[in-house]
Amino acid sequence: MSVTRVLILGGTSEARALARLLAAEPGVEAVSSLAGRVADPLLPPGRSRVGGFGGADGLAVWLGEERVDAVVDATHPFAARITASAAAASARAGVPLLVVRRPGWEPGAGDRWTGAASLEEAAGAVPGLGERVFLTTGRQGLAAFADLDRPWFLVRTVEPPGPPLPPRAAVLCERGPFTVEGERELMLRHRIDLLVTKDSGGAMTAAKLVAARALGLPVLMVRRPPLPEGVRTVPDAAAAAGWVLEAAAR
Ligand code: NAP
Repeated sequence: MSVTRVLILGGTSEARALARLLAAEPGVEAVSSLAGRVADPLLPPGRSRVGGFGGADGLAVWLGEERVDAVVDATHPFAARITASAAAASARAGVPLLVVRRPGWEPGAGDRWTGAASLEEAAGAVPGLGERVFLTTGRQGLAAFADLDRPWFLVRTVEPPGPPLPPRAAVLCERGPFTVEGERELMLRHRIDLLVTKDSGGAMTAAKLVAARALGLPVLMVRRPPLPEGVRTVPDAAAAAGWVLEAAAR
């Protein structure tokens, strides 16, 4: 029986779910790839590797050396560089690519959302919107907020952030999933008057939005970077597994 070799670009719950689904398929051999940002990552089942490939060129070489038949980019919607690399490298190596993009969050009745095109634009909007800010945009984007010396920030990240940070900030290191009650209590305790977040989508971190709505707080939502042109997308791991099995059957 021939084996279909799949590279899963990971670092998300969708990537781990896909690795789990494919581990049960005898005709599929999947390798999960992690960037190596987190000291204690949640490892998916099956084979995994850690660290960058050296850009699109390095990834294209890796795909050839490892005789990869298909690539599934299940990285985070804001991990734009690896997605660009995956699109360029798979085109160059002649390997089909699928991108898993979980749906973005949508405002509902009672929500007070303002959109921002980038972290920098969001930072520019903060002083007009709030004074005690719950900042959940991730460890790597904090520099954009570092010059804001008037608002106070509650910064929540998975790993401890390095400098630069805003001068008036408290850091909370926690990994989701979070509950609505927990988020509500946290925002009340710190007298938060603005939530700043990226449109990551998904259930793991959506509780803060429900809590903000319940408390009547404004939300500053950083929109997603665009996908490379022409890439095929599916919304979840089950659809991605279906695509892999179709490719394996060909
Ligand atoms: P990024 O800016 O798109 O990528 C920067 C570089 O990191 C890439 O050029 C690549 O290095 C390497 N890289 C990224 N993801 C990789 C992967 N899965 N396997 C191997 N190398 C990878 O990515 P990022 O925003 O720093 O995110 C890094 C990882 O964290 C991703 O796996 C992503 O799914 C996960 N994550 C990101 C966020 C977020 O908000 N950005 C949130 C949750 C999880 P080379 O060019 O050397 O190949």
